[in-house]
Amino acid sequence: MTRLLEVRDLRVQFRTRDGIAEAVGGVSYGVDAGRTLAVLGESGSGKSVTAQAVMGILDSPPGRITGGEVLFQGRDLLTMRAEQRRRIRGAAMAMIFQDALSALNPVLTVGAQLAEMYEVHRGMSRGDARRRAVELMDRVRIPAAGQRAGDYPHQFSGGMRQRIMIAMAIALEPDLIIADEPTTALDVTVQAQVMDLLAELRREYAMGLVLITHDLGVVADVADTIAVMYAGRIVETAPVRDLYRRPAHPYTRGLLDSVPRVDHRGERLYAIKGAPPSPLALPPGCPFHPRCPRAQEVCRVERPPLYEVTEDAGADGRTSACHFWKEELHA
Ligand code: SF4
Ligand code: MG
Repeated sequence: MTRLLEVRDLRVQFRTRDGIAEAVGGVSYGVDAGRTLAVLGESGSGKSVTAQAVMGILDSPPGRITGGEVLFQGRDLLTMRAEQRRRIRGAAMAMIFQDALSALNPVLTVGAQLAEMYEVHRGMSRGDARRRAVELMDRVRIPAAGQRAGDYPHQFSGGMRQRIMIAMAIALEPDLIIADEPTTALDVTVQAQVMDLLAELRREYAMGLVLITHDLGVVADVADTIAVMYAGRIVETAPVRDLYRRPAHPYTRGLLDSVPRVDHRGERLYAIKGAPPSPLALPPGCPFHPRCPRAQEVCRVERPPLYEVTEDAGADGRTSACHFWKEELHA
């Protein structure tokens, strides 16, 4: 399988009033063409910042990439010329955000926004571009697409707006989509429909998908592999089924044991006591130790590397940043 995106030891710092925060502290992950990687973590874990750095849309300053590589189809996006990178970002990579309303242009009809992509990037005539736009709206199952193309973003429901975002993202048939909490703002039933649509289009267009979420429930059916992030680092990576069946990190187990709350957008009540640390004051040793039920003396002083989980590893391999991954695996 071809490696589509490979992030290697990516580091991002933020300058804040209280000092320099390392929001991303050496993250590595990869996704193959035609596959889905879920990046899972609580808010503030660095998952969105990592994605923004990958896409080249990090707010800088205050954010700054201080190290690492982002290989897209084998070429490092971080060292290529700005113009070259813009071209890749415009056509080969696309991003879907949580909040479609702020990502779409409020004063342009959605039909015009979609058509503009074909005019600018494909050199289509206005008429052809408009027809393509309607086809695309139809493809993401917006009822009465021909009529609705003349409506503005605020005239659509949250779920329909997210479909329009998806349409924008796939318009130029990118190789990679990064979706940052694409369904978090939606009701649970609409969430499932939008996620199904995204999964279906990913298959149809054979795209790679990086799906960023705080909700394990969302990714179970659509992801091939999962990378779990905590305090700006990856703490576990595994094929989805292996991770559900037998987590190799206490934090992942805590997430799995969390209780879904159906009343409130499917959010979970974390079974893990305490809160994630501030990136300005990461605990020494394992950053998870103050919250970890398995913590030992060594955890307070020695930061665990990303161990290869040599048992229970399929072809894709597994990793865990826990000194006691073996015990956790057999717990
Ligand atoms: Fe818990 Fe120690 Fe493993 Fe960190 S290294 S997750 S503190 S057991
Ligand atoms: Mg986020």
